[in-house]
Amino acid sequence: MREAMARADLGDDVFGDDPTVNRLQEEVAALLGKEDALLVPSGTMANQVCLRTHTEPGDEIIAEASSHVYLYEAGGYAAVSGLSIRCVEGDRGRLDAALVEAAIRPGGSLSHFPPTKLVCLENSANRGGGAVYDPSSLGEVYALAERESLRVHLDGARLLNASIACGESPARLAAGADSVSLCLSKGLGCPVGSVLAGSRDFVARAHRFRKMLGGGMRQAGVLAAAGLYALENHVERLAEDHRRASDLATALDGRGGLSADPALVETNMVFLETSGTGRSAAEVAEAALLEGVATVAVGPDLIRLVTHLDVDDAGVEAAIAALAVSA
Ligand SMILES: *Cc1c(COP(=O)(O)O)cnc(C)c1O
Repeated sequence: MREAMARADLGDDVFGDDPTVNRLQEEVAALLGKEDALLVPSGTMANQVCLRTHTEPGDEIIAEASSHVYLYEAGGYAAVSGLSIRCVEGDRGRLDAALVEAAIRPGGSLSHFPPTKLVCLENSANRGGGAVYDPSSLGEVYALAERESLRVHLDGARLLNASIACGESPARLAAGADSVSLCLSKGLGCPVGSVLAGSRDFVARAHRFRKMLGGGMRQAGVLAAAGLYALENHVERLAEDHRRASDLATALDGRGGLSADPALVETNMVFLETSGTGRSAAEVAEAALLEGVATVAVGPDLIRLVTHLDVDDAGVEAAIAALAVSA
């Protein structure tokens, strides 16, 4: 990847003439079945630019209560786009058509309500432990949004994990979404970068908001080359991450009071319960770090483990041993 970055042909992407950025954007647009795409520095910026492009201040968006857009983007929906957010509790981070329908504001002649404009979906769902949408359930949300004239933004930070796990192409999974974001810097292993995709008109408008947020980069082909390398070499192998996550859950369930349900491991994450250990998640995570294994305590009794391309089978064995002695 670093060699590909060093060899990249460069230009000035603020002027749209970096050939490597343009090639990445074309490849991602094709992969996601959209007309056009735009490279941005982070997944947060991809989501925020999409929200801003779809809406006007005072509009309302519907999102799952544990979604990244709501929890982890520093209130950007409110500060950057002036939006109201309707949070709905779904199933492990996933919404369905009935939940979305019940959250749509009534229209009519009264001007009391903020107009519902956009539905945000996350696939796979981070706080759902990497849960993947059933493609038919996703299709029902898309159909509802179309009937109700709502736009859909798909936070596909880990869409390729979802695609590998459920066996549907990324383009099929994104078919009813008006915009999609895809992280290059998560399981795909790039140092920096996300790409948003949508119609030609949408991406043209998104360009202005990327600039406004400071996301226009000059010789960004250095980063795009990493993305192209990852799309070529790091997608099929995501299945290995999923298998290792499943191995981790199976091995850790019941060890030293830890519990993890292997049946809930669909992609590259394991949610590990620490309540049976007599220690908090933060204490177990701290002890594991001293053993050389980095985890994240995502709740008082919950630790998130993520497998990725720098963790091989020996790494999984080491993590199991470290967590077992930390519990
Ligand atoms: C990581 C992530 C993002 C974007 O995060 P950045 O750190 O800004 O790149 C967006 N959505 C989800 C679901 C994520 O997990």
